[in-house]
Amino acid sequence: MEWKRLKARVLETGSVRLSGEPSDEYVSRSAAGPSAGTPGSLFFSPGGGRPSVPGRRVRAGIDDNSPIEVVHRGAGAADLLIDGETVAGRLEPAALHCPRQAYITVSGTCIFHCRYCPVPELPGRRKGVDEIVRMVESVADRIDAVSITSGVASSIEEEEAYVLEVVAALRSFGLPIGVSVYPCPETPARLHALGVVEVKFNIETATPELFSEMCPGLSWEGIRESLSSSVALFGRGRVYSNVIVGLGETDADLARLMEDLTGTGVIPVLRPLTPAASLADRPRPSAERLLALFETQGRILRRAGLDPRRALTMCAACTGCDLTPGRDA
Ligand code: SF4
Repeated sequence: MEWKRLKARVLETGSVRLSGEPSDEYVSRSAAGPSAGTPGSLFFSPGGGRPSVPGRRVRAGIDDNSPIEVVHRGAGAADLLIDGETVAGRLEPAALHCPRQAYITVSGTCIFHCRYCPVPELPGRRKGVDEIVRMVESVADRIDAVSITSGVASSIEEEEAYVLEVVAALRSFGLPIGVSVYPCPETPARLHALGVVEVKFNIETATPELFSEMCPGLSWEGIRESLSSSVALFGRGRVYSNVIVGLGETDADLARLMEDLTGTGVIPVLRPLTPAASLADRPRPSAERLLALFETQGRILRRAGLDPRRALTMCAACTGCDLTPGRDA
């Protein structure tokens, strides 16, 4: 099976059954992203000895009932058993949250209640600046980037100020820093002034109407404006935005948004819905839909001259949760 199809099947299923040798060092538990609050997840890279394409990977939750199996053969070597096929590869250890990055959630708590997000219900807390510096120090020998995200602990403005403090303390590592937060109008300029190289402001839904329904109290237009103003500062292809697939939008809605974002130099990251919170009963998007959208996204990105393979930080550099044009085909 082609890698993109295999990855689409894993994303459609959302999980794998883990067996074989002990795998604790390869299992990560997250306070953000699609696996927040779940028993754990792993990263699988295809390719027997070394990954066949550097950085090609898929992340999957661990679930004893999954129809897909990963057998750990020892020392990271693993087989993915899927639809009657066996794919040789490796388990990749996460540094902090994902491979090769210290991706840190500053505040694992949130005052907003986006309908798909489990974070407000988790027993999260805000990390201290010194604690975050120590976390990055502990993995500094095995990362290429530092990425920062956060919920909103008390207010959007207060969260931005705290994240700026965190970023200022992390500059001494000399690594590219990417930041993904809910932005205030001045956030792009403030992050740029601190030397941040990439930003990701998640527009989340394909249409503003869907956003009002899914993210009460937040502004689709505000995020859209912050994305545009960021391109002037960080450059085309250094600004990203996650858009969830599976909230009730059509493929035409997603294509329209992707044209709109790429037209201003923003790279959309298409994120399959992980059913959670008040959308726990929704289905995951099918592999067929993800593959069709992947082709559309690839065409739109190529026409705009944007290439996610240049990403230095955050999800477009990781690619574990999404089919990523250029990396996955
Ligand atoms: S793609 Fe993004 S959310 Fe998924 S594991 Fe990688 S960094 Fe985390």
